[in-house]
Amino acid sequence: MKPSHIEHIGIAVSDLGRSVELYEKVFGLKCYNIEEVTDQKVRTAFFMVGQTKIELLEATSPESPVAKFIEKKGEGIHHIAFAVTGLEDGLKHADNLGIKLIDSNPRKGAEGLDIAFLHPGSTGGVLIELCEHKTK
Ligand code: ZN
Repeated sequence: MKPSHIEHIGIAVSDLGRSVELYEKVFGLKCYNIEEVTDQKVRTAFFMVGQTKIELLEATSPESPVAKFIEKKGEGIHHIAFAVTGLEDGLKHADNLGIKLIDSNPRKGAEGLDIAFLHPGSTGGVLIELCEHKTK
């Protein structure tokens, strides 16, 4: 499982509107999509930086993983997402190596991507998301 590039960097924010404005004003970037991911209880806003996206994440409920993250650590970098092909095989590969998986099977993330998270306890404290663009 060799990632082709960094698909996006996920950043936990407490006020999506304020953070979108910051990225637009300071960097001249244009937010091209705002989307709610109900099973993650987050609202996401996307910016394109080269071939990598910045994904701002705002919790929509106190039970959201993003709300818990901000409670513990404050706003900041939440996860790094690698673009991969063969996500299912990649998860098996990681599992065989003893990496703890948050998702043992791919699920739907924002922007129609198939995604799965590896547990930061197995990856040096970094929450790593694997993403696959399914073209069908
Ligand atoms: Zn993500």
